[in-house]
Amino acid sequence: MITVLTGGTGGAKFVDGLRQIIPPDELTIIVNTGDDLKWWGLSVSPDIDSILYVLADLLSNERGWGFKGDTFLCLQTMAQYGESDWFKVGDRDLAMHILRSKLIAEGKTLAEATDVVTKKLGITARVLPMSNDKVETRIQTPAGELGFEEYFVKRRYQDEVLSVRFAGAEAARPAPGVLDAILTADAVVLAPSNPVTSIGPILAIADIRQALRETSAQVISVSPIVGDAAVSGPAAKLMTSQGLPVSIEGIAKAYEDFLDALVVDVTDAERGTRLARPELRVHSTNILMRSAEDKVNLAGEVLTQVTARAESNHR
Ligand code: GDP
Repeated sequence: MITVLTGGTGGAKFVDGLRQIIPPDELTIIVNTGDDLKWWGLSVSPDIDSILYVLADLLSNERGWGFKGDTFLCLQTMAQYGESDWFKVGDRDLAMHILRSKLIAEGKTLAEATDVVTKKLGITARVLPMSNDKVETRIQTPAGELGFEEYFVKRRYQDEVLSVRFAGAEAARPAPGVLDAILTADAVVLAPSNPVTSIGPILAIADIRQALRETSAQVISVSPIVGDAAVSGPAAKLMTSQGLPVSIEGIAKAYEDFLDALVVDVTDAERGTRLARPELRVHSTNILMRSAEDKVNLAGEVLTQVTARAESNHR
């Protein structure tokens, strides 16, 4: 069993490769819910949706989020009614938000609702929200405190980031199955997701971070940083706000209490050699997922790290 911790876009690209080389029923995906929001009164879980769509082969590759070939007629109509339209919800995507909201209104937890939808989409991998409890990523900026999607989508991550907090994380419990999936996995992979606002909220749940420290499984991270920049999005700014260097060193630091192996880009190979320690293997390969082939190759390279540990244990 391989357990993946992930956010939305970078994580979804990585999961796309993984699902093609691992039988899906041997995959458990633990997903960030810190970006979840109420939109037009509906319960929206953007990162869960990206993972569900990629596993069902429905994700729009052009946009990296939302349903393939979706239309936006409802969004346009809502705008005509004077409703907010900065969060882009496609028509078929909307069906997901309606269904999830209906299931939750009927009394299901987020994990139960996710399980129902997963089955309806014919997905055999297990998809778990990190928690059934509300954990909200809040970004402090000179313009005030913003919800993650407000900062990211509405304001296009232009604001200076003063700090980040995860409201509700202290009291939040991991969703059923999350700790077990970490403790009993053959390997736990942290997808190339934003370390602060995608993996950060998951790690802010103390029992999850503790399980990562305790598990005998290999914990492997794929860097979302190449050189001194994020591949996309605001990870660099957010890492700086947390006092983390924007580099593979910063990724290693963010996960230093549990990380066994870090997969970095070939262009960071030399840096990786300097970073490697007896307790941290660093493996370099092409980590830029530009094509379908890149995704499958990267997933394969990550799996070699699971084997690498198994071999060194037998020596
Ligand atoms: P979000 O919830 O939509 O922000 O999604 P994620 O956190 O999963 O993905 C965003 C992160 O993915 C960013 O930090 C990017 O640097 C990283 N990323 C995007 N594309 C790639 C890629 O092709 N390779 C790697 N290594 N990282 C990527």
